[in-house]
Amino acid sequence: MRVVLAQPRGFCAGVVRAIEIVERALERYGPPIYVRHEIVHNKYVVERLKAKGVKFVEDLADVPPNAHTIFSAHGVSKEVERDAVDRDLNVIDATCPLVTKVHNHGRRYVGQGRTVILIGHAGHPEVEGTRGQIGAPVLLVQTEQDVEALAIPSDTPVAYITQTTLSVDDTKGIIAALQRRFSDIIGPETKDICYATQNRQAAVRELCKMADVILVVGAENSSNSNRLREIGQEANKPSYLIADGSELDPAWIARKETVGLTAGASAPEKLVLDVIDALRRIDGDIEVTEMDGIKENIEFRLPAELRT
Ligand code: SF4
Repeated sequence: MRVVLAQPRGFCAGVVRAIEIVERALERYGPPIYVRHEIVHNKYVVERLKAKGVKFVEDLADVPPNAHTIFSAHGVSKEVERDAVDRDLNVIDATCPLVTKVHNHGRRYVGQGRTVILIGHAGHPEVEGTRGQIGAPVLLVQTEQDVEALAIPSDTPVAYITQTTLSVDDTKGIIAALQRRFSDIIGPETKDICYATQNRQAAVRELCKMADVILVVGAENSSNSNRLREIGQEANKPSYLIADGSELDPAWIARKETVGLTAGASAPEKLVLDVIDALRRIDGDIEVTEMDGIKENIEFRLPAELRT
């Protein structure tokens, strides 16, 4: 059996930065360090940090005054920022710079007198954070049907922004529907969409051309990992999302010649290796190769207080 690894796969620059922020804060200030929400959506990463003395909370009411508190890569609303100030917390912000860029776009559009429409998944922490950063009501659309149901006149000046874990391809149908619905509409350049989401999705599309089955390493609550699995399904390949090798079902790969293996932006390479080990336990004669693909070299700077 051949195993072809997607390129690129796994950690993006925003996730690397967020985890490094937590690790440097642990070194500098010592445990406990508090993190609001999972720093990135991956249980393995979260459990490893918990073992080092990180406490994950959903509500800042669970953090003692003056404690060092990190906001996750998904970003937070202004209300959460104010709450942290009121509670005298020492905040370090691990919001991905590409998420912050979306916040800035939204605020700029509001400043231009436009109604902002956010394309994203209801309830996702990034969407909650973005809606609460804009400083004006934000309309959320998840489907083209939602666009038709928007209760504002078609000549309203509007602007759209998108959740970062949706790619250009994911959003183009909804953007086209918005452009049909509104006469005065603007949005960000497509180059502003998250590079990591776009690259990982393009790699899975290529992988589907050479694989009989697609395995995606990632967490159930990871939006971008779920999307990678859906892309496999859309290409009519059996596609499975697994947290690690222990979740691999031998029936999925029985009589398959080529397995395509990728990982979501919040899944560490260690878990990809764990899946390869599990594949090897099922079929001792596997040949592992990596597809040609984009080599990413993007790095985001750490917050100033943790740089040295
Ligand atoms: S997927 Fe993109 S937006 Fe999300 S953390 Fe990674 S680089 Fe940032």
